Amino acid sequence: MTAIHLENLVKRFGAFTALKTMDLEIRDGEFMALLGPSGCGKSTTMNMIAGMEGPSEGRILFDGRDMNGVAMGRRGVGFVFQNYAIFTHMNVYDNLAYGLRVRGLPDAEIDSRVKKIADFLQLTPLLKQPSAKLSVNILQRLAIGRSAIVEPAIFLLDEPLSNVDAAFRAVMRTELKHLQRQFRQTMVYVTHDQLEAMTMADRIAVMDHGVLQQVGTPLEVYNNPVNLFVAGFIGSPGMNLLRGSLADSDRGLVVDLGELGLTAPLSPEVAAAARAHAGREVVYGFRPERVSLSVTGEGVPMPVTFVERIGARTIAHLGTGAQRVKAVFDNDVTAESGTTVSVAVEPASVRLFDAATGIAIR
Ligand code: ATP
Repeated sequence: MTAIHLENLVKRFGAFTALKTMDLEIRDGEFMALLGPSGCGKSTTMNMIAGMEGPSEGRILFDGRDMNGVAMGRRGVGFVFQNYAIFTHMNVYDNLAYGLRVRGLPDAEIDSRVKKIADFLQLTPLLKQPSAKLSVNILQRLAIGRSAIVEPAIFLLDEPLSNVDAAFRAVMRTELKHLQRQFRQTMVYVTHDQLEAMTMADRIAVMDHGVLQQVGTPLEVYNNPVNLFVAGFIGSPGMNLLRGSLADSDRGLVVDLGELGLTAPLSPEVAAAARAHAGREVVYGFRPERVSLSVTGEGVPMPVTFVERIGARTIAHLGTGAQRVKAVFDNDVTAESGTTVSVAVEPASVRLFDAATGIAIR
């Protein structure tokens, strides 16, 4: 186990800055996901932790030791990348054993560790199989096993599940989390798939355009996004974000959502945080899961434009023009396109953002 400190890391490629002053502490034994859209700098960060590339500025510390100038092979880091490196001329057993043989471990110990990891990754029946004929799913599992078997203090995984099918990905999410709990490694996991980050990570570092946006537990980034980017990126679908202005009324501070023709009341906590912003343009945010729909109940009437049924849940697309709303609900609520429903939002679940800066007010 090793704590990693990325201290004001900057990475430039010529005139282009791929990573802008990244400062991040990854704790001993923590599962940290680096999450963000394509090109945000996740792999660049990983490559620097691994030692494949050096930073343009800043330092990388492992347990307080500066890694600058320390070669890849001497960092105690194991990695699995999207393009698994498997020796196709070897069978599964020999691929797993490889890292331990290189380190000169006794045969009996190698055998016991190969069997343990093979059992863990459900590779036991395949140990004698030649690697050249394995499916993508098995190859990826083998790539993970090959790196994990040497029990590196730090385990880096860069999109390890992006080539495998959806059912296998779901299985591997559980297994990787289990593997990390078992071996207590510090794990850094790069993904653009928020489901992977949300289900496996202890904390998530959300990145965009080379800038670290927020670090927090999955629930923290979900419930309290620090800015509009995180609010829209986390969640499927992301948060509803409606433009409005903060206005004083006889009901206290409200958000005037002009294009919807309504003013939305604020909970006392949100109103208190927003007081200093009165009169300003804001973005009124709420999760699609926090919308309640009814045919006759209280709320704002909105037309249902489109309904997506995705198994256990349904997504209703509501409204027309600039201010559209998505609502997610269980299948026992009926909403048909072409009808009009009453839409209500729990005031306590509302998040407000400054429209000019995008930064969360509350
Ligand atoms: P992806 O999931 O697409 O790999 P990412 O978040 O991992 O995205 P990076 O691979 O870190 O992103 O790339 C960040 C930015 O740096 C991108 O715009 C990329 O084109 C650029 N970049 C990465 N490596 C180099 C390089 N060797 N030379 C020039 N530009 C690079």
